[in-house]
Amino acid sequence: MDLLEYQGKQFFARFDIPVSDGRAVDTVEQAVDAAETIGYPVVVKAQVHAGGRGKAGGVKLASDADEVRHHATNILGLDIKGHVVRILWIEKASDIAEEYYASFTLDRSRKLHLGMLSAQGGVEIEAVAERDPDAIAKIWVDPVDGLTPEACRAWVADAKLNPAATDGAVEILSKLYTAYTEGDADLVEINPLILTDDGRVHALDAKVTVDGNAEFRHEWGDYEATQVRDDREEAAYAKGLQYVGLDGSVGIIANGAGLAMSTLDVVNQVGGSPANFLDIGGGANADVMAGALEIINNDERVRSILINIFGGITRGEEVAKGILEALDRVSIDAPIVIRLDGTNAEEGRALLEPHLSDSLQMEPTMLDAARRAAELAAARA
Ligand code: GDP
Ligand code: MN
Repeated sequence: MDLLEYQGKQFFARFDIPVSDGRAVDTVEQAVDAAETIGYPVVVKAQVHAGGRGKAGGVKLASDADEVRHHATNILGLDIKGHVVRILWIEKASDIAEEYYASFTLDRSRKLHLGMLSAQGGVEIEAVAERDPDAIAKIWVDPVDGLTPEACRAWVADAKLNPAATDGAVEILSKLYTAYTEGDADLVEINPLILTDDGRVHALDAKVTVDGNAEFRHEWGDYEATQVRDDREEAAYAKGLQYVGLDGSVGIIANGAGLAMSTLDVVNQVGGSPANFLDIGGGANADVMAGALEIINNDERVRSILINIFGGITRGEEVAKGILEALDRVSIDAPIVIRLDGTNAEEGRALLEPHLSDSLQMEPTMLDAARRAAELAAARA
């Protein structure tokens, strides 16, 4: 789950990371009230699940009530990269001497946490990585050992921040690592991490992604309430399906997240474009399959459907029965291509065989099935 900036700052504050005093509001009058309470100057900040708000006109300084009113009026309702602003964060303005970048995320290939720190903050880190990769100091942290104070200090030295920022940065980064691990985050990013004119180091922005699977350990109801999902994702979420909407025309149903991702790759590889990611989990019973087919059938982008199932504990004939029963219940507009492999696949395929037609096809391999689905989608474009 992606947090809005103000939620990220509240998350940081729980781990004692310094952030500015602020209030989340959703009307112009509340924005003015908040500013009067906080004291001027303030910053009026759009709260959307997108970066680059500053450039898009979603971050404005205000030094009196009229300016707050003016900016709040302009920013509420503003569309930033397809996200309409409904919430504002009003915070005490800071005097910035320097802007840095700091983050922790997981380096999956190394199976270690990765910290990144740069003296060139405030801009997109991707741009820094491209232009001047040496300007990003990296540290890999073994989760068993944690981030030691010595390692943290060496990392900060490596980033060549202003010496005045060293102690503050070491302190914040240690806390940020704690927030990242104990807070069950997949990503914590501060851009900019600032050095103020009076020598304090401070988080001016917050980008936090928490691992939804850890929800049972936390109280994350507020984060849930501000998640943005398109209509397809909302419907899939209501059915408890692991679904991500995409822009292509081949609807995908697969069992297991790994197989679902491979299916997307293979569809792309053969020149098709996936309409979604959808993992129906280990089993493939009729209820789940029917739900999955409904979600995909309601997606007007979909021109063909690829069902890619590898039977494991769930045997092939159960999968086949599930598919057939689901097809009895929901009528599907787009042609379906099935690839069924794994445990008892032959038995499963034998059950499907008599039902095959132009609108229900079967292919022996994942590659063949992806090709067929991509062709069908192209033909019906
Ligand atoms: P983003 O554009 O979505 O990353 O939003 P940020 O929260 O990072 O704000 C963008 C930029 O606005 C920052 O890099 C700062 O340069 C500026 N900014 C944000 N807050 C303040 C503040 O309190 N004082 C000043 N002077 N500038 C700020
Ligand atoms: Mn930022």
